[in-house]
Amino acid sequence: MRPFEYVRADDAAAAVALVSADPQAEYLAGGTTELDLVLKDGVVKPGRLVDITRLPLRGITLAEDTLRVGALVTMEELAADATVSDRVPFVREALLAGASPQLRNMATIGGNLLQRTRCRYFRDSTVMACNKRAPGSGCAAVRGPARMHAILGASDHCIALHASDLCVPLVALDTVVDIQGVDGSRSVPLTEFYVLPGERPDIENVLQHGELITQIRIPLPRGGTRSGYLKVRDRASYEFALTSAAAALLIEDGTIMRARLALGGVGTMPWRAREAEEVLRGASATSLTFRAAAQAALDDPFTVAGTAFKVELAKRTIVRILHTVSGVRP
Ligand code: SF4
Repeated sequence: MRPFEYVRADDAAAAVALVSADPQAEYLAGGTTELDLVLKDGVVKPGRLVDITRLPLRGITLAEDTLRVGALVTMEELAADATVSDRVPFVREALLAGASPQLRNMATIGGNLLQRTRCRYFRDSTVMACNKRAPGSGCAAVRGPARMHAILGASDHCIALHASDLCVPLVALDTVVDIQGVDGSRSVPLTEFYVLPGERPDIENVLQHGELITQIRIPLPRGGTRSGYLKVRDRASYEFALTSAAAALLIEDGTIMRARLALGGVGTMPWRAREAEEVLRGASATSLTFRAAAQAALDDPFTVAGTAFKVELAKRTIVRILHTVSGVRP
């Protein structure tokens, strides 16, 4: 492990100034990802870690049907929030499916958005070919064994998966990310926050170096909306998704009036399934409609030998969560 300097910031402006001024500096919040990448795997080598855990970025507030969640709110705190349970239960389901209680008590919402891929080649410093870690070096996963990898949004340069469960319902809900930088603040929809790997897999999101996520804003769906999150994985707990789906439906007299659908375990970013939503909106809530939506969501996958199974698995995941949320029997 390379030595690094540890600094604790007293306010957000100071933290942003410290990291912005130093290309080798990174933020440290819950530390659940940083511990792996810096101390265990040694694939990220910051010269300085700026501890932001004392910043006033906590608290969950409800105003005008929008839930404001501070970046330092923990996964456990958000899962325990009464409004989340009542209005967007699939957010709670994703949080509980996303990590063990120990991790949920440490990991922050801001950190969850910024978690790095679980691609084992990325996390193994003895593997030379990884465009995300060393731009231009190639991609070991495209040519070698790959299973826990993406089939949507991938490219020949990178098929790394975004592993967050929480981000799947957040993307479905059109969550907004508030960001503070040295030149002021800005807001970015979560659907536009992540960047497809293309030829530069090392660029994962729209943050400039030093910009700090201060809070997220979750617009709550209309009353009567039902939601659910389904995660398919190799074992029942403490495992990343092979596929997952978050669905929110407003159904009146058997017709789907509003539909939101997002996928996890399959995309290089939390994947909003807009083509599927178009199929669902205005259609009758039936098995036939659900299968057509699943087909639309997985219309153009990018697979390698080890990930081809995910296409059918993702379709079945979608169909099953739509049955569950709608209450329509298969
Ligand atoms: Fe690296 Fe992406 Fe290839 Fe994994 S999939 S080895 S992260 S370039």
